Amino acid sequence: MARIDTVLTGGTVVTADATFDGAVGIDDGTIVGVGDERAFPAAEERIDVAGNLVLPGVVDPHTHLAGYNSIDSYATGTAAAAAGGVTSLLTFAWQGWDDGEWDDEGTLADAVERHRRGAEPLVDCGVHPVVTRESRATLEELPGLVDDGVTSFKLFTTDDIRLSNGFIGEVFRRLADLGAVGMVHTEDYAVCEHRTEAVKAAPDGASTAAYPRSRPDYAEAMSAGSVARLAVAADAKYYGVHTTSEAAAEAIDAVRTDGSNVRAETCTHYTALTEETYERLGNRAIMAPPLRTPRDVDALFDRLRDGTLSVVSTDHVPLPRDRKEGGPWWESAFGINSLQTSLPIFHDVAVNERGLSYPALVRLMCRNPARTFGLPRKGRIEPGADADLVVFDPDETYTITAARNHSNADYSVYEGRTVTGRVKRTFVRGTLVADGGDIVADPGHGEFLTRAVPDWS
Ligand SMILES: [Zn+2]
Repeated sequence: MARIDTVLTGGTVVTADATFDGAVGIDDGTIVGVGDERAFPAAEERIDVAGNLVLPGVVDPHTHLAGYNSIDSYATGTAAAAAGGVTSLLTFAWQGWDDGEWDDEGTLADAVERHRRGAEPLVDCGVHPVVTRESRATLEELPGLVDDGVTSFKLFTTDDIRLSNGFIGEVFRRLADLGAVGMVHTEDYAVCEHRTEAVKAAPDGASTAAYPRSRPDYAEAMSAGSVARLAVAADAKYYGVHTTSEAAAEAIDAVRTDGSNVRAETCTHYTALTEETYERLGNRAIMAPPLRTPRDVDALFDRLRDGTLSVVSTDHVPLPRDRKEGGPWWESAFGINSLQTSLPIFHDVAVNERGLSYPALVRLMCRNPARTFGLPRKGRIEPGADADLVVFDPDETYTITAARNHSNADYSVYEGRTVTGRVKRTFVRGTLVADGGDIVADPGHGEFLTRAVPDWS
């Protein structure tokens, strides 16, 4: 019998359903065997991973690379991903954003093309086009993009790129016909604007600690509820991004009829940090929506358990400190970098502190995002799947520092935080891309993903 390329042996394999001692056989970038190594053909290379878990590579559907709010290129952002155990990611292609400037002409297809051109990712990547303009021409572009393997689209209800609920409803109707996913950043724009002005004028309003009051949980819940209703009315696949609060999760749950077409994520930082962080770290920790209360964090974990929230993403927004610090909170750019730290942080808070099972971790970070966004070969350890694998030592304790950042972002909100559980090695389609935090493959190993219309049944 012909030899296979590689076998990872001696580890504990974690799938979405089970944890068991076993080997993983890899040939030509694909998983060809899981379980008893004696059932596999002999391998050219045997890698002993005793004492470690073997997880599917993390699938992160919410990252920002090579766009208007990102100083990471594909090379630097995907290096952070690889070091952090993320083997597939989806990022945003902004309609009308061209090399540092907004224009009124650019199409969604132009935005996708700009992302693919010249990018050299280390892990596998895809894009969600971001609809920033209300126009018939934009609606008419959707079928061609879906045909081309771009099967999800991002919309905003707030900030300068906001769309009206009326137009969002029309987008959902088109997406429903196509089977594609609409994902929306939901905060009520007018409420946030008025609250921001009021908080700025308050006696204690200048401190970053006041920032969460400018974008309250009810503004998130109002918008999350109305947008999910629009999606249900259109029978579209809806994915609520970065759910932060008990109130927003409740609003989403209230419109989930059979649960099949309304889905939502939270992000690592909303499970690991609370609003007191603003007092400690100042503007460095500013993202939108803001960090919430300990009670909200408890509620997010309840919702991750009951399925209202089915994915944990990063919302990795790499920015330098000088675009965040040095002025009042209302002048800070939004977003934090986290691709390199998401798996160890979420593992620490969810598994170590709250007793989440390893299969549940794999469902939230690997299998569910892959299924939600049309990536059938990703997020699972089964014969026929891509050999995207993470060797993870659940017992190693280490201290996070931005000195090891592969991202261009020059800080970490987790600086100095000690966690137990560390990414040792990351494989993308059978190739070792990160080893002990170092990048060991060349940029360009990653491929642009052509995505299927996802099956949410
Ligand atoms: Zn985002």
